[in-house]
Amino acid sequence: MNQPKILLIYTGGTIGMIKDFATGALRAFDFAKLLERIPELSHLDCNIETVAFQDPIDSSNMNPQYWIKMASIIEENYERFDGFVVLHGSDTMSYSASVLSFMLENLAKPVIFTGSQLPIGDLRTDAKENLITSIQIASLWDDQGKPQITEVGLYFEYKLYRANRTTKINAEHFEAFASLNYPPLAESGVHLKVFKENLWRPTNNKKFKVHKEIDNNIAIIKLFPGITRASIEGFLASPSIKAIILETYGAGNAPTEAWFLDFLYEIKQRGIIIVNVTQCSGGRVIMGQYETSVALKSLEIISGKDITTESAVAKLMYLLGRKINKSDFKTVFETQIRGEMS
Ligand code: ASP
Repeated sequence: MNQPKILLIYTGGTIGMIKDFATGALRAFDFAKLLERIPELSHLDCNIETVAFQDPIDSSNMNPQYWIKMASIIEENYERFDGFVVLHGSDTMSYSASVLSFMLENLAKPVIFTGSQLPIGDLRTDAKENLITSIQIASLWDDQGKPQITEVGLYFEYKLYRANRTTKINAEHFEAFASLNYPPLAESGVHLKVFKENLWRPTNNKKFKVHKEIDNNIAIIKLFPGITRASIEGFLASPSIKAIILETYGAGNAPTEAWFLDFLYEIKQRGIIIVNVTQCSGGRVIMGQYETSVALKSLEIISGKDITTESAVAKLMYLLGRKINKSDFKTVFETQIRGEMS
């Protein structure tokens, strides 16, 4: 039978954890055994194969090596499968899914990240719905038998989002993610509704390519009232930092005190890239709208526009890895490449 072939990639996270009786804490477990507890999977109209990290992790231990591993698994299996579902801890899922969205260029198949707030073995678990619907989404074909979703998505609690637009907003609710600057790609209710107008539609038919050079020599400075030079000047002495995300207030505003502007000037003089990203979960950076961002604009600081911090981290590591010229960096960063900003 001509059914979609889906590869389930288990990296770790609550979804596959069990309680350690000695400590009472949740720890990663053998996912294949847990899958046996979901007989519903055999009723889906697709063929599922599973691959798991040898040592599944809590996603708080996520790092670029694991991203390369995930990207390599997808690369090695790209031709054989029609869609991919990545099971991942929710804590850093938005980071990983954003990074993968950049690493996987000219993606023509769905890569859906999901996880859960409660382990799959828990009576009240949200894992079954998240997993089953993610597999169904990854199996969606259009009239020509081609995958409907051709981007990296994140499915959680009835909503599919563009992954690089998401943020984890709740550690308690089943609705753990939000995408404040971009509407959902699909919603699951009685029917599974795909909002075609929101999907990423690459205009070219170029060959799928995986970029595995990730440069994580970056830092984040989150502004707060009362911030002092002493707390941030260490960045000036750091030989390895190549880029800084400045998490600013509101529409990209920052203090206008001389010491702070001098600090930014010195950072720039050292050739370190600065990206202005708002601390707000919704809305965008508009440098020059307020007097408190005029100086940032004259310093030619990069505008993160409406990008999330997670996606800015991902895009920076990706572009630094691709060794984009310093002189082109601002233009390249400010240009949408995977639907991550508008
Ligand atoms: N700490 C877990 C993780 O991110 C939380 C979860 O899976 O939801 O791996």
